[in-house]
Amino acid sequence: MHELAIAQSLLKIVEQEALPFRGARVTRIKLRIGKLSAVVPDALRFAFEVISQGGIAEGASLEIEEVPLRLRCHQCKEVFVVEGPFLICPHCEGLDVEMVSGRELEIKSMEIEDGN
Ligand SMILES: [Zn+2]
Repeated sequence: MHELAIAQSLLKIVEQEALPFRGARVTRIKLRIGKLSAVVPDALRFAFEVISQGGIAEGASLEIEEVPLRLRCHQCKEVFVVEGPFLICPHCEGLDVEMVSGRELEIKSMEIEDGN
């Protein structure tokens, strides 16, 4: 399960970030996840919920923003969103394309509440 490995590295980063805030709790984590990273948001939420138990990020909600796969066509310079399995420019049917977005796997922001 690839989401479990991602949840583990996510938790590690979050715990490190929250370390200077003694007694604090992480309440919300915003993520950006590209379509090509093949992460199932519900599976990631579930994995994170399980492994964060007893720690600083227990009960934190994961807000996942899915980033579509975007390509740029070298022939006509258009940038387009790919929905289907074919990496073809819808404007000129060119095949010479490069990826603009879709592989993201990053923490956008996190909210920390202090212990009081
Ligand atoms: Zn094109």
